[in-house]
This record gives sequence, structure tokens and C-alpha cells, in this order.
Amino acid sequence: MNRDAVIELLTAAPADELYRRADQVRHDAVGDEVHLRGLIEFSNICRNDCMYCGIRRSNRKVQRYRMDDDELVETARRAVEMGFQTIVLQSGEDMHFDQSRMCRIVERIKAMDVALTLSIGEREYSDYKAFREAGADRYLLRIETTDRDLYHRLNPGMSWERRHECLLMIRELGYELGSGIMVGQPGQSVASIADDLLYLKEIGIDMAGIGPFIPHPETPLAGEQGGTLEQALRTIAVMRLLMPDINIPATTAMESLHPQGRLMALQAGANVVMPNVTEGEYRRLYELYPGKICVNDTPIHCRTCIGLKIQSIGRTIGQGRGGHISHAKNI
Ligand code: SAH
Repeated sequence: MNRDAVIELLTAAPADELYRRADQVRHDAVGDEVHLRGLIEFSNICRNDCMYCGIRRSNRKVQRYRMDDDELVETARRAVEMGFQTIVLQSGEDMHFDQSRMCRIVERIKAMDVALTLSIGEREYSDYKAFREAGADRYLLRIETTDRDLYHRLNPGMSWERRHECLLMIRELGYELGSGIMVGQPGQSVASIADDLLYLKEIGIDMAGIGPFIPHPETPLAGEQGGTLEQALRTIAVMRLLMPDINIPATTAMESLHPQGRLMALQAGANVVMPNVTEGEYRRLYELYPGKICVNDTPIHCRTCIGLKIQSIGRTIGQGRGGHISHAKNI
């Protein structure tokens, strides 16, 4: 599929037909199982100042928190006891979690015999290497956009080239590589979203996290429009057509736009859900965007709720760790 064909699908092609096609391709390539990942949001402290993000350094209104090591490992243990076979650790870029601290955490969670994904931003090669050697299996780092100008406008003090290099390092170290984009960023064109999808295919990702941009009131982008449900669904669907067998989560942000947003994504190409297993106050405080769902729920409530939703559309909960089915062949 060339760039023009991708643009056509992202804009003009009838949406229902596109979703049906993506759903069929998903069915044929990865089946009807929906893989669950237990997501732990362990720190909202961040050294970066991304214009869209509610936990950006300059937002003085957010109450900051960080779990201590034992608390984080205990949260993971409870998620494993609930049946999760993949744990995802996500945070702002909080350097309190330096190489050795992070490695000890990784080792303790890996001792529970689960797959472990990190989503803690840009680090040095030696860090990525050490985390991998400590047992981390997968890494999520969205490129956000391939439009360099847009990236540099919205991510002050950061470098697109550096982020791209991080993705290449992560891949080279043998992680399953997750990347992705936010759709509906101010000034982001459809042509650039097409370029993003082709870029993700080019670098050979194993998982694609695609979600709408939702303006946060305590950021410089408060007055912007944000992404739409249709735009995000179309992007997910086209990603599935481009890369039939990768893992694609139905992101939480989808559900902030529509009460059935995640189910709609699961029926437009997605095959993964990442229920939040963070506990207590932290759920509310990890506020990347407003209208985040389930902030007052418990992990077990979320696990039960999403299980029922998945069954309601005729899908099953994935057995096993649910890694990228052809990852082993690719590296
Ligand atoms: N700090 C880490 C991980 C946490 S941020 C990192 O940068 O990789 C996880 C993702 O949340 C980001 O990649 C971004 O795409 C998304 N995000 C941030 N602010 C958002 C907003 N206002 N609306 C929607 N998604 C947002």
C-alpha cells in the first residue's frame, strides 16, 4: 500500500467498510483472542515538558507521586495473582528510577514468571541494555509523530532524531518493540499520519499504540480541538491492514471519547487491552489527559468489567503471554 492509498483510507473510504476489513484481517492473522496487560502507573514525576501532557514538568497543579520499590512490586504481584500474564510499567521520565533501581524491580517482577513491558521514556543505551539483561521483554515508546517540526513544537527540549534512535536501540536489543502515535495533534495533517504509519511499518514494530490527543486544561494546548473517535479508529484500522499480525491495543483514551471506545477499537483492528491495575489515589493523579476512565475503580473491578465487555462482542480472553506471533522470526 502506498502513501496515497493510506491517505485515501484515512479520509475518504467508507468507515464501516474499512473497519470490517481491518476486523477480518485481524481475525485471520491473530485470531479472536484479546490479550490483557496489567498497567501500573508508578510515578507521575517527569523531567519533560510535552505541550499536550497533563503530567508535564511545568504543570504545578498536579499532585506528584511515586511508588516505592516494594509498593510497585506488590502492585505487580496482585496483578499477577489476578491472572495477568503481562505487566506494563509506565511512568513519566522519573530519574529516581535509575538503572540499578529499575533493574532490581525488573528482576523481582520477572521472578513471578510473567512478560514485562517497560514504558518509561527515553534512556541511555546502557539503561535499555541493562533492563533487557535484567529480563524486560518489551518496550513501549511512541514516536508520537514523524512530522519533525510538529514534534519539536510540541516536545520542547526533545529531539525527534533521538527518539527515533531510542526505538532502533530497543529493537536491536531484542525487545518486542512498541511504538505509535497520537492522532489529532494541533497542526498534524492526514498526510503526516500516513507517513507515521508507513514509518512504523518500516522500523518493524511489534505493537502499535494509537490513541486520540485529548486536550488537558492545565497545558498550553488546553484550547485545542483534540482527536476524534473516527480519526483514531481509522488510524487503527489502517495500521492493522499494513501490519496484519502485530499487537494493537484498544487504548484507554478511546474510551474517554466514547463509552464503547475500546470495544469499537477491538472491532476495527485492535486485539489487546491494558486494564489499569494501579491502586488508590494514583489512578486519578496519573492524569495525562482529562476524562480518564475508571479512576475510582479497583483493579479487580476493571479486570472483571473488561472481561465481560470482551465476551459481549464474541471475543475471548487471550491465553498465555500474547507476544507478537512473529517476533522470534524478525530478530
Ligand atoms: N513518559 C513515557 C510514557 C508515558 S506517556 C513516554 O513518554 O513514553 C504515554 C503516552 O500518553 C504518550 O506517549 C502520549 O502519546 C500519550 N499522551 C500524553 N498526553 C496525552 C493527551 N493529552 N491525550 C492523549 N494522549 C496523551
